[in-house]
Amino acid sequence: MKNKTVLITGSTSGIGLGIANHFAKEGYNIMFHGLELNGEEIAKKIAEKHHIKAAFSNANLLQPEAIEGLVNETIKTFGHLHVLVNNAGIQYVSPIEDFPNSKYEAIIAINMNAVFYASKAAWKQMKKQKFGRIINVSSVHGIRASEFKSAYVTAKHGVIGMTKVMALEGAPFNITSNAICPGYVKTPLVEGQIKDQAKAHQMTESEVIEKVMLKKQAVKEFVPLEAISDMAILLAKNSSTTITGTSFVLDGGWSAQ
Ligand code: NAD
Repeated sequence: MKNKTVLITGSTSGIGLGIANHFAKEGYNIMFHGLELNGEEIAKKIAEKHHIKAAFSNANLLQPEAIEGLVNETIKTFGHLHVLVNNAGIQYVSPIEDFPNSKYEAIIAINMNAVFYASKAAWKQMKKQKFGRIINVSSVHGIRASEFKSAYVTAKHGVIGMTKVMALEGAPFNITSNAICPGYVKTPLVEGQIKDQAKAHQMTESEVIEKVMLKKQAVKEFVPLEAISDMAILLAKNSSTTITGTSFVLDGGWSAQ
């Protein structure tokens, strides 16, 4: 994919990093993004390994102007923006009555509102190119609920709604919009949840993995990063023009029940 550019939010950790590695292998130029302090180094190493161009930004997704700046910087650096992967996200687990308002608002801002601001900022360029692929990393929690996750479930359901609207508005311009909805993937975000859930459920960490996290998945395995990045690569293809407005659920059979 010489000369194609992808911006992946939250690509210096976890799922975003997995997706970035796969896009790099396919030859895309990448705008890395995230709050990890070694982001610059990660971008440089992957660029050298795969002979692609890469840059890095640590724009804070809590700030709409910073999100717009991130998209504009990508277009300025690479001259294009073909694929936008809205991946960054945070989690906080608590019963509703104790859920801190500041955590609720941050989850809505990063996991949902940032998807809107980034896509909005990319829209003009994608329209001009007559090519755009918006890939939103939602979650099985975009279609199912779990207790103690009021903010996260709300944000992830919202992302699926937004994905559909963007598909309708993007269709005349070859801009597609889809969501990927994974079950549990073993990333730093989940490592944190294991601890929080253990507290909320008053269980040990291994009990949480067995009895809470993977309980709802028919396949008792964490979803591999490769499955998610394979899906993202498919959705980014030139030939994927008619795959739009939908959600791809990689949840080990969770939502089949
Ligand atoms: P992670 O914690 O490993 O990575 C999150 C990334 O988002 C990091 O790069 C972090 O720096 C970035 N980020 C967080 N807050 C930010 C902010 N304010 N500004 C800029 N960047 C910020 O998490 P992950 O597990 O890889 O999750 C990635 C996405 O996948 C999230 O949207 C998450 O909800 C979703 N998801 C994860 C799982 C899972 O089991 N891990 C399952 C379903 C969906």
